[in-house]
Amino acid sequence: MSGATATVDLGAIARNTRAVRAVTPAAVMAVVKADAFGHGAVDVASTALAAGASWLGVTSIEEALALRDAGIDAPILSWLNRIDAPWADAVAQRIDVAVASLEQLEAVAAAAARAHRTARVHLHVDTGMAREGAPMATWDSLCSAAARLEHAGAVAVVGLMGHLPCADDPAHQANARSVEQFALAGVIARAYVRNAPMRHLAASAAVLGGAADDSPHRESATRVPHGDIVRIGAALVGIDSQGTGHVEAAMSVGAPVISVRHVDAGTPVGYGHSHVMSSDTHLALIAMGYADGIPAAAAGKAHVFLAGRPAPIVGRVSMDSIVVDAGTTPPRVGDWATIFGPGRLGEPTAADWARWSGTLAHDIVTGLGARVARVTLPADDVSLGGARREHAAARS
Ligand SMILES: *Cc1c(COP(=O)(O)O)cnc(C)c1O
Repeated sequence: MSGATATVDLGAIARNTRAVRAVTPAAVMAVVKADAFGHGAVDVASTALAAGASWLGVTSIEEALALRDAGIDAPILSWLNRIDAPWADAVAQRIDVAVASLEQLEAVAAAAARAHRTARVHLHVDTGMAREGAPMATWDSLCSAAARLEHAGAVAVVGLMGHLPCADDPAHQANARSVEQFALAGVIARAYVRNAPMRHLAASAAVLGGAADDSPHRESATRVPHGDIVRIGAALVGIDSQGTGHVEAAMSVGAPVISVRHVDAGTPVGYGHSHVMSSDTHLALIAMGYADGIPAAAAGKAHVFLAGRPAPIVGRVSMDSIVVDAGTTPPRVGDWATIFGPGRLGEPTAADWARWSGTLAHDIVTGLGARVARVTLPADDVSLGGARREHAAARS
């Protein structure tokens, strides 16, 4: 193995959960889709629940079932499923599903009816994404069908869901329109469904951005109603696209130096000789490449943090490795190169890598390859109570 390691600090997950709790009266749904943005779904979910989240959110029913298999009992919502998804398993395992079309609604209702159970559904309206929410033109008929199936006992409409396309920019004019559409969809739904459904529209950006009192956009910003639940993914793992400072990155990635060589000025490095060293220096080899999640597009811009200082990547990113310019003082074989982390020691952050490669921090943290080892640091914190602390006490 190359030694490349992603370390996830569950203490940061717990603190981020509490930071979100502190800025909203709504219940917090910890969104742990895509293996909790690459941080480990079960660990992140358990930590967030212990720290005050009360819901879990995932994309597919399969992701939700994996959480149930791990013994997690909290309410879970799954919102993006194919037409032949395991609806029956969702119903049996008390997994809520968001539906946005008649076909999806009828599929889950049929599975529930066969099992003589009631499916818990959230009706998902499009509030400007043109993605998985139901187009407004179909909303009335979706609500009416849901009411009919509710009457038949096959479904219970427990939630209304929307999603904001432009919450990253609080001053964007689309926000007000989304908020209006969601409110209108709520009025229509209430005319049909039996009980007042829980409403959820806001994700990390709307909650953190709205919380930033010193936001330069505050005057023109649309107040996004937090409703009953806020769905929080990015903020949970410390992705803070708007730089609010309310949350901290939970993941650090690094790898040991494999070898060090002295080279003279004029030495070309790597494929295509795309870079030629301009002075005598030491090159360090690190066994992480684009197959491990180092974006090839970051070549020529990115640096790692080695021996307490930035060491730029020189030449192209290879599939399995990068070469960095370690300068005149040679590092030692085995010295730790930090690829990214919270940034507290001067190391690059996932946001830096995103900038260097023209993408999002989300893409960086979810993009680590299978060869990167995963280490999880427990949240050694009172809120984690229960089994974990007893376990620790029994060992000491
Ligand atoms: C991913 C996702 C979320 C979480 O969004 P963050 O910005 O990561 O907090 C919420 N709702 C939906 C529909 C999503 O796809």
